[in-house]
Amino acid sequence: MIAVISAGGKGTRLGSLTREIPKALIPVAGREILARQLDELAASGASKVWLLTGHLGEAIEEFVRSRPVPVETEILRESEPLGTAGGLAALAGKIHEPFIFVYGDLVFSVDFTRMMRRHLECGASITLLAHPNSHPQDSDLIVAESSGLVRRLLGKKEPRQTYYANLVNAGAYILSPEVVRVVLPGLRSDFEKEIVPQFIEAGRVQAYRTSEYIKDMGTPERLDQVARDLTSGVVAARRLSRRQRAVFLDRDGTINRYVELLHRSEDLELLPGAAAAIRSLNASPYLCFVVSNQPVVARNLCSIEEVEETHRRLETLLGAEGAYLDDIRFCPHHPDSGYPGENPAYKIKCACRKPGTGMIEELAAAYNVDLSRSWMVGDTSMDIQTAVNAGMRSILVASGMRESPAKYAARPELHCADLAEAVDRLLGQAEMQ
Ligand SMILES: [Zn+2]
Repeated sequence: MIAVISAGGKGTRLGSLTREIPKALIPVAGREILARQLDELAASGASKVWLLTGHLGEAIEEFVRSRPVPVETEILRESEPLGTAGGLAALAGKIHEPFIFVYGDLVFSVDFTRMMRRHLECGASITLLAHPNSHPQDSDLIVAESSGLVRRLLGKKEPRQTYYANLVNAGAYILSPEVVRVVLPGLRSDFEKEIVPQFIEAGRVQAYRTSEYIKDMGTPERLDQVARDLTSGVVAARRLSRRQRAVFLDRDGTINRYVELLHRSEDLELLPGAAAAIRSLNASPYLCFVVSNQPVVARNLCSIEEVEETHRRLETLLGAEGAYLDDIRFCPHHPDSGYPGENPAYKIKCACRKPGTGMIEELAAAYNVDLSRSWMVGDTSMDIQTAVNAGMRSILVASGMRESPAKYAARPELHCADLAEAVDRLLGQAEMQ
């Protein structure tokens, strides 16, 4: 595998830190960002890394000459600043296969072999690394279809819909060689504003969603945060080559106030303490997913698009409180057909409807989750039965339906008042292990 690091940026927001050393050589928790990037790329199987340099490029040249690096490197230095894309033109004729493209100010721990596999499977020209974050309201967003096809990139200052999916462009890509060919040599250009939109227009850009750690060193505050995350081990732990632990959450009655057959986005209201509980999970070793049965589609109360709008509202409300979901799955089906007004296409027996385990197994495969070390939290016996069927531990919360008698026989490991208590209890158990 081949990788390209764009390390020519000036890093003006970091002030005096980047006056004498390029951003890529700023030490974070005792090791230069570039050294960390080369380690990570080598761990993903990169055999060669091209470094596009500019501002203070001689320092980067000196660095790779004088230090042992884990992978072969070659430097292409631009004589004048060419923006985030201009330097790519120098690779024309040199790269003939899809390659990793990352910015030099990113600290990450990403299994790029998974991302490359996805790029090759979907046949896109550009695959961009997408993730939810704790501050979507001031981040560049990706607008994508559920298939991952990217419809547009939305800058942080551009007007957005009231409710938006928490999907942020991280600044790491897989590019096919045709992308290099559209960059004009010697001209300044911006990758996200000028190059990516050409390929979006042609339907050639895919979002690859991951829960792995990736953050830019744009400001001194972020630099401090990333140093803390490196030291605590969070950065390495989230790499998807490692087995993950997860908490699977039911939606209605667990995260948001229970409304029978909720089908209008405006009826979704977070339960007190739910956002703070999810924020605690985000800072813990656990990934956090929602798995929800939404038979409202099969009953024709709303469309798939309307369920997705409800989830955009959910992610927007959580984002406003600094919380995010690593991913969401829902089942639109219902097995019993023959009712007036139903949507027959969705009246089927499926593997995804809880207590079936289809949604959980799909997420477990996508995020390398060890289900035996994971939890399900929900407000019905069906959630608990799902946990048992999937081999997970479970917590029943009393904040939702309070069904009586219970429809399924499975018993939860713990009973809690609400999600806040459930998260406290399961994080307390994780500490003891
Ligand atoms: Zn289903």
